[in-house]
Amino acid sequence: MTAAIEIKNLQKSYDDTVALRGIDLTIKPGEFYGLLGPNGAGKTTTIGIITGLVKLQSGSVSVFGKDIIKDYRFTRSKIGVSPQEFTSDWFFSIEKLLIFQAGYYGIPKKVAQPRVNKVMKKLGLYEKRDDKIRFLSGGMKRRFMIAKSLVNDPDILILDEPTGVLTPQETERLFEILESMREQGVTIILITHKLQEIMAITNNVSVMRAGAMVAHRETAQTTREELAELMVGRQVLLRVEKTPAQPGDVVLRTENLTKIDDAGVTRLDHVSFELRAGEIVGVAGVTGNGQSELLEVLSGIQAPDYGNWTIHNRVVDQDHPSNPEEIRELNLAHVPEDRQRMGIISKFAARETAILGYHHDPTYTGPVLLKTDAIVADTEGKMDRFDIRPPNPRLTSDSFSGGNQQKLVLAREIERRPDILLIGQPTRGVDIGAIEFIHQQLVQMR
Ligand code: ADP
Repeated sequence: MTAAIEIKNLQKSYDDTVALRGIDLTIKPGEFYGLLGPNGAGKTTTIGIITGLVKLQSGSVSVFGKDIIKDYRFTRSKIGVSPQEFTSDWFFSIEKLLIFQAGYYGIPKKVAQPRVNKVMKKLGLYEKRDDKIRFLSGGMKRRFMIAKSLVNDPDILILDEPTGVLTPQETERLFEILESMREQGVTIILITHKLQEIMAITNNVSVMRAGAMVAHRETAQTTREELAELMVGRQVLLRVEKTPAQPGDVVLRTENLTKIDDAGVTRLDHVSFELRAGEIVGVAGVTGNGQSELLEVLSGIQAPDYGNWTIHNRVVDQDHPSNPEEIRELNLAHVPEDRQRMGIISKFAARETAILGYHHDPTYTGPVLLKTDAIVADTEGKMDRFDIRPPNPRLTSDSFSGGNQQKLVLAREIERRPDILLIGQPTRGVDIGAIEFIHQQLVQMR
């Protein structure tokens, strides 16, 4: 039987960074394949090469027996991909963008429309088809990204971290869709850090580490513990070790905090709570229910419309709004939930992202110019302490994997030793080794 995907001795370097060191992988048609690996293992690069987004340097890839370079039209038409990061921050509607996507595959509009309708219905997007992408909640955006990967009716579907922002119900629904696609013969590759998802729905799993394939397993023959160890290269604690909290004084208090968005929708509705020193307060909820607005109000990005909140005796309300700079000076640090949009600046060097917001600090700047040497040294220290790879402060921020970008943002905020840390989705898209590390950091700060 011809393999759905056959990869032989794939190698790839970006300047000095070796991303892939000779990868072999065979995926049979109709398989539900899991691809695991810590951040920076080379998963995205591998997928990029398969789909033609990343240039192949050495080795070969064939899709249903056809070479991805020689027969790229054929091979690309067979594959649908839903990448990890959202790419469409545009003003277009769901429907319009899906039609565009079909156009990319050369599918004429007449043929595309019924197909797009079908896909939108499948993912529960049909009612929202006229909504602009940039205003969608995280979960809806993710569904859109999945819909986008389905418009060409692919025989191979590749999903990179599809469930990061989905609710358990949305995840279950997605898995049902995937299961039915597999029954129709579609080959599915799932990249995720969520081991329980790998265990629940894949048949086979491969583990990558540092640009190499380190193991192949039949899912039924392995365990979460074994996979975690294969990924990280050592035993990993799958739960957080901590002593009971000993909460101290109240350091932040909100009273009837209310926020109404531009469309007139009440996003925060009289939210009151207290936060004490030495405790971690979790806010749970389906995305789109005000968590983002809560973070934006408390970090000074938006003013409340009603109610107030207090930090170190500074009362913030509609008439006395604040701003992120003042809030930072009050020793509140913020790790935003959307690191791509608010945590980093993609095209800035890592050393610049590592000081964003604190760049006026005399450690980093003289009267006119930034102190580049000091910033580089500082970033190198952060990269060492947070195990950020590759440890090169000069690379642009977007050349790091999602998990490493997240660690860069965390290092920036945590190392200021804030009194209060606001943190949205601390471990989204982050591998288990890094999750363990982040949890330990947070418990230690507590
Ligand atoms: P994963 O998807 O498993 O997290 P990636 O394929 O994104 O891993 O990255 C593999 C390695 O290649 C990492 O060391 C990463 O920093 C590097 N890398 C990826 N993309 C680029 C790029 N555009 N420029 C420079 N280095 C890159």
